[in-house]
Parts: sequence; structure tokens; C-alpha cells
Amino acid sequence: MATVFSKIIAGEIPSYKVAEDENYYAFLDINPLAEGHTLVVPKKEVDYIFDLDDETLAGLTRFAKKVAHRIKSKIECKKVAMVVLGLEVPHAHIHLIPMNSENDVDFKREKLRFTPEEFRKTAAILAE
Ligand code: AMP
Repeated sequence: MATVFSKIIAGEIPSYKVAEDENYYAFLDINPLAEGHTLVVPKKEVDYIFDLDDETLAGLTRFAKKVAHRIKSKIECKKVAMVVLGLEVPHAHIHLIPMNSENDVDFKREKLRFTPEEFRKTAAILAE
């Protein structure tokens, strides 16, 4: 069965898209730790990131780097953290999280709540 991220990539489930190319897709995390918290995924459906073939993994990192620079230029933050963790969705993904302190990347913290309009606005700013 296709993962929720494959359904997002296929347009079967809506997402707040930030960037896309032939092989990769970036969209806002719906349970964000910070405004602009973005997930970057390969279109190829592989659960564990280190099971990706070398070329796809390298391309994923290059794509994430571009998205991270974009986030950094649009959202006020000291750095953009790149985090790979979690067991929830069996589709490799990188979290990009604008951060001003290490606490901003504590996944045990309560997630932020944004309205669909706020998510749309953030995605539009990042997608520019
Ligand atoms: P993890 O596997 O722990 O990294 O968790 C997967 C991440 O995907 C979580 O941060 C979820 O909030 C996020 N997520 C799950 N479903 C969606 C969705 N439909 N749209 C955006 N983000 C999602």
C-alpha cells in the first residue's frame, strides 16, 4: 500500500507544497515544531533513508540543501536544522526546521497549530 507521502506526491492527499522536481518533493509538516518546518522526500518510496541508493540519497541531500537555503532566506532563524528520525511514516524523509535554539528541534515539545490559511501563506512564501 502506498504511504501517505506517496499519496501526497501523487496529489491524492493535499499538501502545502514548497518545492518539487522530477525526483523529490518538499511540503510543510502538518504538525510543525516551527513555522516553515518542511519535509523533504524522495518520490521513490523507500522506508529507511539509508536503504536509498547512493544517487537518490545524494540527490535528496542536494534538494534539501536548496530548500533549506530558501527557508533560511524567508523565515527569521539562526539556522535550519536537518533531522532524520521517526518511525511514523515508512517513507524516507528529512525534516528541515528553522531554529534559534536547540529546544526548537525537540520533537517531544508540543507542536504548533496553524490554520489552513496560515499554512498556505507560509508555503507560498517558501515556494516563491
Ligand atoms: P516521523 O516519521 O516521526 O518523522 O513523522 C512523520 C512526520 O510526518 C510527522 O512530523 C508528521 O507530522 C508528518 N506528517 C504526517 N502526515 C502528514 C501529512 N499528511 N502532511 C504533512 N505532514 C505529515
